[in-house]
Amino acid sequence: MRRLAVARIWLEVNSFSPIPTGLADFEATEWLRGEEALTRFAGTPTELGALGAFLTANSDWHAAVSRCAAAAPGGPMDEGLFERFLAEVREDFTAQRWDAVYLSLHGALVTQQRPTPELDLLRMVRDIVGRTPIGVSFDMHANLGPEVASLVDVAAGYKTLPHVDMDATATKVLTLLDRTMRGEIKPVGAIARPGRILHSFNMRTTDGPMQELEAIARAATTGPILDVTPFGGFPYGDTPYTGASVMVYSDGDAAAARATAERVADDVQRLAPQFSVTRPSAAEGLRQALARGDGPIAVLESADNTYSGGIADTPGLFRALVEMKPSVDCVFAYFCDAALVERLFRAGEGAALDVKLGGQVTGDFGPPVAVSATVVKLAQGGFVNEGPMQRGVAVRVGRSAVLAVDRIRVIVTEQRVPVNDRAYLAHHGIALDGVRLLCVKAKNHFRAAFGPLMKAVIEVDTPGPAGIDLRKFPYRYARVADYLAP
Ligand SMILES: [Zn+2]
Repeated sequence: MRRLAVARIWLEVNSFSPIPTGLADFEATEWLRGEEALTRFAGTPTELGALGAFLTANSDWHAAVSRCAAAAPGGPMDEGLFERFLAEVREDFTAQRWDAVYLSLHGALVTQQRPTPELDLLRMVRDIVGRTPIGVSFDMHANLGPEVASLVDVAAGYKTLPHVDMDATATKVLTLLDRTMRGEIKPVGAIARPGRILHSFNMRTTDGPMQELEAIARAATTGPILDVTPFGGFPYGDTPYTGASVMVYSDGDAAAARATAERVADDVQRLAPQFSVTRPSAAEGLRQALARGDGPIAVLESADNTYSGGIADTPGLFRALVEMKPSVDCVFAYFCDAALVERLFRAGEGAALDVKLGGQVTGDFGPPVAVSATVVKLAQGGFVNEGPMQRGVAVRVGRSAVLAVDRIRVIVTEQRVPVNDRAYLAHHGIALDGVRLLCVKAKNHFRAAFGPLMKAVIEVDTPGPAGIDLRKFPYRYARVADYLAP
């Protein structure tokens, strides 16, 4: 029997979110260990789903699953919680000898004190397991330091955005680990950093520069090259390694890995200007959307995208929508305001009341919007993702409400839950028939499920923790001035 040690911490941190990510945020998404981590995700297109399938297909492997933690992107991870995570993994991994280690990481984790906590984790695990092979899967938005390649025996990152290959990435890493154990391959890695910070607006892999980079990476995966992953990086995570990177693993040929990483990094530099964007203001974007005369049209407020660490609180797009006084049906998703949800539950369905929406966590991105509203629906519990992204994964929403503000239906929740799945709207009793504008705090992942249902998708530029102009943010570590593409 071969023994595999497993741990996972998957959190994309926006260093500029004023809300730290704590235990409740992980418990709402994933804070599991042991068998439960495998059973919960069995059959889903996720890392843990892939691990379960790998163990079923390879009965000579037995996995001991330590802490598995994941939360929706948010502010810096609570320091004490990260130390608790490290201590738990240290205790589990020192308990016995292993044949291999598999870590599922995001790559853009930041804690309240540490700019590169995943490096701390990797150094600790390497110390514990000595020369035992370590395999790691990463998100495409990882901010990777070159040291990762010397700490990790084999690794790969997602190659799709929206991320529909979480499972395929984990399967690749587990398969390469298995082949390493069998002595079939001797992986050696290299990471090249092109010195560029890229926006993710044009990072979809269905078209544009990232599609081109992925094609280059695929073509380069030949001969001794086992994997080529171009990482877009995550611009709102403030670390010394913020920005794009290219990671290559080869079978025993260090020079080939290095040369391939540097060659693809040159392509990242060449294509970098195509990742910089400008977007219309909220008012202009809404005007363009209505001028089309058909629907539904999605209007996306990316500066407060939950999957970029948004706070579901910035008022920019909502204020512009209210001021436009739309004469067609619109949906706004969403504000996170637990105190307001409590008040709406006390008032009950059908109640009319004056409320202030947005600008509650911080006034930095604009003041609240005062409106008269009617409670049209109260909801509790959650839903199961229809997919394609994270299909079959249960999502806990907690309590939430739908308000009517004239022709605008507004979703208000007590937890931050990204609007990435059609089941989110169904959970709130909202059908898209007749909806002209679907205004969402979202960016890319929204498109996996909603893209095919929309007549058009218009992104707008508003103030927020994931705003477009990176020069406005108080970076401490990232080399923004040097790395922003011209
Ligand atoms: Zn990502």
